[in-house]
Amino acid sequence: MKPEVDVLIIGAGPAGSSAAALLHRQGFRLLVVEKQTFPRFVIGESLLPHCMDLLQEAGLLEAVEAKGFLHKCGAVFLRGAESCDFDFANQFTSGWAYTFQVPRADFDQTLADTVAARGVEFLYAHGVTAIAFGPESATVTIETPDRATRTVTARFVLDCSGYGRVLPRLLDLELPTRFPTREALFTHVTGDQRPPGREGGKIWACLHPAGAWVWIIPFSNGKTSVGVVATPEFFQGFPGTPDEQLRTILMADPNVAARLARMDFVFPPQRISGYACAVKRLYGPQYALVGNATEFLDPIFSSGVTLALASANRAASVLTRHLRGETVDWQVDYADHVMQGINTFRSYVTAWYDGTLTDIFFAAQGNPGVMRQICSVLAGYVWDTSNPYVAQAERALPLLARIVRKRGPETGTAE
Ligand SMILES: Cc1cc2nc3c(=O)[nH]c(=O)nc-3n(C[C@H](O)[C@H](O)[C@H](O)COP(=O)(O)OP(=O)(O)OC[C@H]3O[C@@H](n4cnc5c(N)ncnc54)[C@H](O)[C@@H]3O)c2cc1C
Repeated sequence: MKPEVDVLIIGAGPAGSSAAALLHRQGFRLLVVEKQTFPRFVIGESLLPHCMDLLQEAGLLEAVEAKGFLHKCGAVFLRGAESCDFDFANQFTSGWAYTFQVPRADFDQTLADTVAARGVEFLYAHGVTAIAFGPESATVTIETPDRATRTVTARFVLDCSGYGRVLPRLLDLELPTRFPTREALFTHVTGDQRPPGREGGKIWACLHPAGAWVWIIPFSNGKTSVGVVATPEFFQGFPGTPDEQLRTILMADPNVAARLARMDFVFPPQRISGYACAVKRLYGPQYALVGNATEFLDPIFSSGVTLALASANRAASVLTRHLRGETVDWQVDYADHVMQGINTFRSYVTAWYDGTLTDIFFAAQGNPGVMRQICSVLAGYVWDTSNPYVAQAERALPLLARIVRKRGPETGTAE
């Protein structure tokens, strides 16, 4: 019997909606199954400029532009009196000079509604609970809102379930991450005293004197997302309720305290722990993992949505060829491409936590060429291998750190 749909997509986050947009354009029969009802809160609110290319390719940029989200034109790293300012206008890769800071409930719903308006069916409040693969199709079991189950057959399944990690769990694909456990405590605040003009849209990452870092992500609705990332042991050093903990930690950093002196919390602080994850493989005969269902590294460089959109874009293009009967090499055409992006960010995340990158950031401002190359990575252009700080990131960053530590700020190229 002919499968009911060509592609069943699990999850309507950025990965699921953009994959659906691209596959719908190719004429495939789709079903998007989403466990929650939208709008729903999810963390991950600062985009990178490369998202703009990817949203544009999926035909979703216009709808996002129309929402009036705050323009983000760079990232500022602060440590006490030191600062390092990346402006996306000064990049090695020719790409977008801005992107958006997005409350995700609004952003994700905009993407999903735009795709649904084109005729793609979204089933909300339906959770995928099981899957069985046959020779011609996959049979997906779905729990309905009234706790009944139904099944849908599909030629192919894209797992875009993010933190739900549906197929990694069901198919035993999970691998331990190489990063130690970290957690984030966060909320939205009012009363943020932002820098004036376009500077006010930049993300701040503040190195906390007690050994954490703090994000400040402003929105166009007047609210600001604020969160602390550290080891569980760090948080144990701050007794009290999550509300008390977060206030005490924020006010102990001079840059955060100055900016947020008049803050009020919009909702009680939420905690998310042990979010880093990895998988054994990214695809099988009738499925592929996309977005956070693949590997999630760390929030420090706001790479999550960019990787979600980039993997969705790539998966949609490889899957189109696959469903049309062409021979495709999922390893080379999909997995290797996705891992190139993940692995580049991995080098930067590692270098952030071992102090390599902070030494570079607070010393290398004197070398505009290097800063432009690193800026392109922070803008999400991690597939531009003409950039030595992409192609040789793992080797180039420690080398550069050694040079700047030894000779000071005016040096550092990765030839
Ligand atoms: C503390 C923290 C801060 C972060 N900050 C940033 C940031 O600033 N910028 C950034 O780009 N990224 C950030 N991220 C990462 C970001 O949250 C994710 O990378 C991003 O949401 C991934 O998108 P996705 O579409 O893959 O998954 P999601 O956005 O998680 O969407 C997956 C969807 O699948 C649905 N689902 C789950 N299980 C099922 C099921 N069984 N059946 C059906 N549907 C299901 C979920 O309800 C959800 O709607 C951060 C992450 C953390 C932990």
